[in-house]
Amino acid sequence: MIELSNIKKKFGDALILDDISLRFPEGSVTALVGPSGGGKSTLLRCINLLEIPTSGSVQVGEHTITFKPGVSVPQASVQKIRCETGMVFQNFQLFPHRTVIENVMEGLLVVQKWPREKARKRALDLLEKVGMSHKTDAWPANLSGGQQQRVAIARALAPSPKVLLCDEPTSALDPELAGEVVDVLGQLAREGTTMVMATHDLRLASQIANHVVFLEAGQVVETGDADAIFRHPERERTRRFVSSIN
Ligand code: ATP
Ligand code: MG
Repeated sequence: MIELSNIKKKFGDALILDDISLRFPEGSVTALVGPSGGGKSTLLRCINLLEIPTSGSVQVGEHTITFKPGVSVPQASVQKIRCETGMVFQNFQLFPHRTVIENVMEGLLVVQKWPREKARKRALDLLEKVGMSHKTDAWPANLSGGQQQRVAIARALAPSPKVLLCDEPTSALDPELAGEVVDVLGQLAREGTTMVMATHDLRLASQIANHVVFLEAGQVVETGDADAIFRHPERERTRRFVSSIN
């Protein structure tokens, strides 16, 4: 279970997230949607603490951290939450000088201190899951975008995180390659992986997500069941957004 309580995030004087409280139950798949600049990426980064919230609290599994303005949080606590949250980025961000399997093993070896053989076995299992076991020794530069993103998903899942966070996982890909990534994410969703993904792709959102959070100007405008929000949004603002994309 992931829970955000009263999260605020300021950059300088600008309030980018304004008192966000959300729960993401185990096994839920949530799409974060809304206009550009609304704070979707910032919210994801506040869950895995790539950005430190200005105030509020973040709970990931058994770990909870409360943030207060001007008070630094212990690095060890931040590290615990980071280990429980896997992140997938729009532009993949694989390590260019590591092969596919080394990319997936890296965190297990360096952060988790797993022995090499155990890490290799886990990486092979994950590459199989994302349909990339035929490319274990390839270099990222020699893969298609869709293949790179599938490796990035395997890497994010390697330490068995409590949640997979995806920031626009398909938006750098043409429709066919995006489809490969949607298939992998859909499979993970069916297996019960808890996911939160920011996306402009309402096809991805409606195929995979069961919850939707509509975020605008740092505030939650509407939340609910994915079918209901896409078919019958309650708020006028959400209705305009959904119809502008369809
Ligand atoms: P998009 O749909 O375009 O990806 P988004 O909903 O993900 O947008 P964010 O990237 O979270 O939006 O940005 C929210 C706001 O925060 C924007 O106004 C952005 O300029 C601002 N912002 C984001 N990161 C920083 C930063 N490091 N420093 C200052 N402002 C930032
Ligand atoms: Mg974004």
